[in-house]
Amino acid sequence: MPTVDFLLRSYDQTEAFACHSDSLDNVLAFQYEFLSLFPGLANFDTNTIRPELIKSSEIEANIEAFIKKAEGEIPAIHRIGSFIRNLADGETFFVFPTSELDRKVSFHISNLLSARYHKEDFEETQTSMNELFGGLLDKYDIFPYGNKRKAIGNSSKADRICRFCQNTRIPLAFKKRAHAISEALGNKTLVLHDECDGCNEEFSRTLEPQIIEFFSLYRTIYEIKGKGGTKKFSGKNFKIGRNEDELLEISFSDLEKIEPENQDVVEDAPKLPFTITLHSNKKISRQNLYRCFCKFFLSVIPEELLPQFRETIKWTNSEFDIDKLPQIIEFNFPHSFQEQPVLLVFIRRDNDQSVPFAVCEFQFTFHRYIFIIPRSTADSKDFSEKENFDNFLSVFSHLNRAQDGMYVDFSDAKMRDFVINCNFVKNNQSDEIVE
Ligand SMILES: [Zn+2]
Repeated sequence: MPTVDFLLRSYDQTEAFACHSDSLDNVLAFQYEFLSLFPGLANFDTNTIRPELIKSSEIEANIEAFIKKAEGEIPAIHRIGSFIRNLADGETFFVFPTSELDRKVSFHISNLLSARYHKEDFEETQTSMNELFGGLLDKYDIFPYGNKRKAIGNSSKADRICRFCQNTRIPLAFKKRAHAISEALGNKTLVLHDECDGCNEEFSRTLEPQIIEFFSLYRTIYEIKGKGGTKKFSGKNFKIGRNEDELLEISFSDLEKIEPENQDVVEDAPKLPFTITLHSNKKISRQNLYRCFCKFFLSVIPEELLPQFRETIKWTNSEFDIDKLPQIIEFNFPHSFQEQPVLLVFIRRDNDQSVPFAVCEFQFTFHRYIFIIPRSTADSKDFSEKENFDNFLSVFSHLNRAQDGMYVDFSDAKMRDFVINCNFVKNNQSDEIVE
């Protein structure tokens, strides 16, 4: 059957749809009419870089009118309406009359969209991206989630299938609003329709408090706004919060425990450098933190990918523990602060078993956590094994260049006291979290 495909791309959105008809003339007429909605587009070939399009109220109005006319025949065209509505005014986007782009064109377009979005020089972006990510982009598709508002899954409640229990819960209900990433970590943009009330409630009772506790110090320091605004952080021997002058204030009840050689107390302040150890009220397990990261991943990915993660879902539901997990790479990104959490999802494009099928980067304030999704049926290798992990690193080679990158084992499944060591040093304040 004659078909024409279309692909729309912006910095953080990709949308494809197709038009089928028994008559070739009909689909060609549709193609011409659709492309004519965008200035300068109708006469371009499929495989060239298309003219850059800029979102305007005029384009939006034209599209809305076109959708009203065509919606009876092509229901999928609604998605184009939401693609256009999600663009900011003046944002760059592209429309291609094809379902898939040539890799080189796609890479070029990604760099151009990123440069425009971040208001950077395109040539510079292109050069540095080539150096850092050329090999990675041959292997993986990359999807960002969190910069923009997105409701994931089925908007119709009757059609929802819970990603975590497959609707096996009794009673089953979808009355509450579930966040794809915890709201307490600042997520205001990502909502997951396909999570039932029971699974949501269980997560918020068992695993979620642990990841919130893990990030509590940062939540307070960086004033991350969850439900009900910013939060104070307190534990067995400390209280941290903003005072009336909005300055960060720590009250600490264990001063006598500061290292003896640094115990000179001058004008109420111990001599630098010194360390204070904050004892949290809660217990956490590192494996549960890994589960939380993976649950966020499972909450944002396209539905079609879920069958490859059935075992991963059972593990995030705590049906079993994994003895040895791949290391998580943590590093700081001092020049890029995320006001709300972002997930970068990497999905392998081919069947190359030497690298993981799915990798994810969790971006929170200045911190980045890169983790491999374990137990995908699309993987035959175990990336907790050194040789396999090293091979993964050879493709994600930019991680090796991250300064102060740490490779941390999150396999420990035991619930332990959570302790934060804060190192105070002269001129260069830093804090470090250790167990
Ligand atoms: Zn459920």
